[in-house]
Amino acid sequence: MPLVKTLDILKDCEELKYAVGAFNINGLDQPAALVKRAQELRSPILMVVPGVIEKYVNFEDYVNVTARAARDADVPVGIHLSHGLDLEQFERACKAGFTSVMYDGSKFPFEENVANTRIAVEIGHKYGCAVEGELGALGSSFASVSESMTDPAMAREFVEKTGVDILAVAIGNAHGFYKGTPSLDFKRLEEIRYALMAKNCYLTLHGGTGIPEDHIKRSIEMGIVKICIYTEMCHVGKRNAIKYVEDNPEYTGNYDIPDLIGAIDLGFADAAEESMRWFMSVGKIGRGDSCFAELQAPSVNRQPVSASFGGAGAAVAETSTVVTDPGPRYPSLPAENNDFRATGAFWNKNV
Ligand SMILES: [Zn+2]
Repeated sequence: MPLVKTLDILKDCEELKYAVGAFNINGLDQPAALVKRAQELRSPILMVVPGVIEKYVNFEDYVNVTARAARDADVPVGIHLSHGLDLEQFERACKAGFTSVMYDGSKFPFEENVANTRIAVEIGHKYGCAVEGELGALGSSFASVSESMTDPAMAREFVEKTGVDILAVAIGNAHGFYKGTPSLDFKRLEEIRYALMAKNCYLTLHGGTGIPEDHIKRSIEMGIVKICIYTEMCHVGKRNAIKYVEDNPEYTGNYDIPDLIGAIDLGFADAAEESMRWFMSVGKIGRGDSCFAELQAPSVNRQPVSASFGGAGAAVAETSTVVTDPGPRYPSLPAENNDFRATGAFWNKNV
């Protein structure tokens, strides 16, 4: 299926009490590996492109390979820019066709963060992209937990003034590996949630690696609908790479590089799978109460999922006797191109 709007995925998360995994990708090979695993698990998924890796691959290529992987599957897939470096880069991502974009102004004083993020929202909505902002400083040094957590009253003011659709909160989470077991400030999360009640803004947690499963699940129960994971994926990918070289003494590093990359991608997918289970997103597609339930309702004309995506969806597609396809409850994006930069009607939170 085509890429879908990130907000449609988050809406489903909120209604069914799960979080979508937002998984960083590095190269152009990883979207296929991750989407294939999401397909097998019947889980929505977000591909995340951090702003810092634009120097390696341009945004259009990331969108194209992700859209291609999504078309080979029938679970909802979105692509998200994380930690956009500046407004120019932010707009490049919008133009390229990302389904959501993050402008990270958390390094600026509050008023400057508000002013820049408000501009980002205007740009993003013009292109039909959901916009994420960040308030409070996440630890970023593979060690420290934030000393500047999100203030609930400021979060309310930030959302009111900027109109962001998604807010990244700092409640004791941090990027990289934690020094000890992290402890999330649930009281603060509850206060943020209360402060943003009726603000039509979703909450996301960055720095998911290392947060205990019970903390993850409790945060989801309290309103987190998107969780970012990267460090753990890198760790498992690296472990796989080392094991591959050790297990293959004939490895030359020449023509067998693709096998090594494949081992890394497998590690990324394995780490993502564990996260999807913790985030309770596994098996959500095809449920009658999901807004994506109809994805699993095949019609006579529907093609079976390809053998390489032979998960539960494939079995259903080939054996079901259902012959009517009610069509998507939430309109998805055009399949044949990535021009889902949209008309005015496209951007409608009430869709
Ligand atoms: Zn982050």
